Amino acid sequence: MKTEIKNFINRQEIISLLKLNDEPSAAQVRDIIKKSLEASCALEPAETAALMRVKDPQIWEEIFSAAAALKKKIYDNRVVTFAPFYASNFCVNNCLYCGFRTGNSKAVRRKLSMEEIKKETEVLCGEIGHKRLIFVVGEHPSTGADYIAEALKTIYSVRVKTRMGYGQIRRVNVNAAPMSVEDLKKIKAAGLGTYQVFQETYDEELYRKLHPASTPKSDFLWRLYCHHRAFEAGIDDVALGALFGLGDWRFEVLGLLSHARELEKTFKVGPHTVSFPRLEKACGSKLKENEISGEDFKKIAALIRLSVPYAGLIVTARERPEVIRSVIPFCTQRDASTRIGIGAYSHSYEKQELEKQQFELGDTRTLDEVIGELAEMGYITSFCTSGYRCGRTGDHIMKLLKSGHEARFCKLNAILTFREWLDDFASPQTKARGEKLIEKEIKEVMAQDERFGAETKKTLCVYYERIKKGERDLCF
Ligand code: SAM
Ligand code: SF4
Repeated sequence: MKTEIKNFINRQEIISLLKLNDEPSAAQVRDIIKKSLEASCALEPAETAALMRVKDPQIWEEIFSAAAALKKKIYDNRVVTFAPFYASNFCVNNCLYCGFRTGNSKAVRRKLSMEEIKKETEVLCGEIGHKRLIFVVGEHPSTGADYIAEALKTIYSVRVKTRMGYGQIRRVNVNAAPMSVEDLKKIKAAGLGTYQVFQETYDEELYRKLHPASTPKSDFLWRLYCHHRAFEAGIDDVALGALFGLGDWRFEVLGLLSHARELEKTFKVGPHTVSFPRLEKACGSKLKENEISGEDFKKIAALIRLSVPYAGLIVTARERPEVIRSVIPFCTQRDASTRIGIGAYSHSYEKQELEKQQFELGDTRTLDEVIGELAEMGYITSFCTSGYRCGRTGDHIMKLLKSGHEARFCKLNAILTFREWLDDFASPQTKARGEKLIEKEIKEVMAQDERFGAETKKTLCVYYERIKKGERDLCF
């Protein structure tokens, strides 16, 4: 299919919607929420814009509760954890907000060799216990598709003996510059998980101011269509995001929604996940961080959750723990034990060194601490990567998500992968918290006859016992 290249973000329509100031009635808000809870498609921009105009704090509470209920319905109470893997900070671009930009003379530049990538992976999957990574590089000829493909193969080749079994990275997503179809095919062939690119801002005028004209990133449309090219390359798991704090957050939420709708319309598959990172302090950047308040951040998360009901929602360690706690009920993924210096996992590390990383992190707690906290809050940490490996991607996963069926797989695989992690990596304190939670989860499955048939329950028990004896990677 030949795609006509034009800006599908209707700037004028968004601006007009944002100029409206009539507050919707409670009944109108509830109708929109009802549509969202059905989860069959993304909301209309006018519907999301109406939710944004709510002023009544009690109605906002209803919106927050609905966003949490929707997350539970589609993905159950599991939170998937991952780690970012920063392999190089060489970059030809000069994005005004980023510590890696070429004009930042204070940045200490480094690119990992395959041997170093192997060492980082050994720590991530053998000591910390991660199963899923997002591989990140700046845009540079030395870290193009060939480098990324080789890195993915290197990461997947690492296998480390653990207390009871073995550790291995089972899924590597990539966040890198927009690529050509040919390059995307190369990284797909090397085992790419999700292809993630953030548009930064959907406001083309603002985009031009932040990305100097002489740099490749200044091409707004090349970036806007990179997910289309991914589909053309046969990749059906794509991830969207905007960098919040650059412009009006309301505009960016409607921009993200328009992008999701465009993918739904063109490919019948929406984004697999949406990210909503907030601008953080960065070495060599004069832009002011945290212009978005914690209260607005929570609204952004709830609005995206309801607007693109089937999509996973990712919150990152850019945020401080209390901010993450406020949005976690709407989110499906978070990172933990996060380090964003190049080669930082396998080196001794006491504090963040801004000139060696892209921006400042707000949550540097270990995976063990994060999992313990999530367990106390009633969320089970999942290391599940089975959906992708069992062919539940693209159109297939969209149907399962929209019908609420994926939540069943989420629950069962969360139990199995959590069991693996508790036995291989948990500290005694986290293990104690985890055991209580996993027992409760198993009881819930056993009590739900309609949702989980006798055969499924039996398989769960068999797999669970085999995992306890050291077998790994058994899933639904
Ligand atoms: N270089 C590639 C690109 O720009 O698409 C991919 C990697 S970039 C390192 C990943 C993302 O980090 C960017 O898309 C941007 O949204 C985000 N980022 C950059 N500077 C940031 C900052 N100061 N605070 C928070 N996030 C930032
Ligand atoms: Fe380079 Fe990406 Fe940073 Fe821009 S955001 S300077 S492209 S690493």
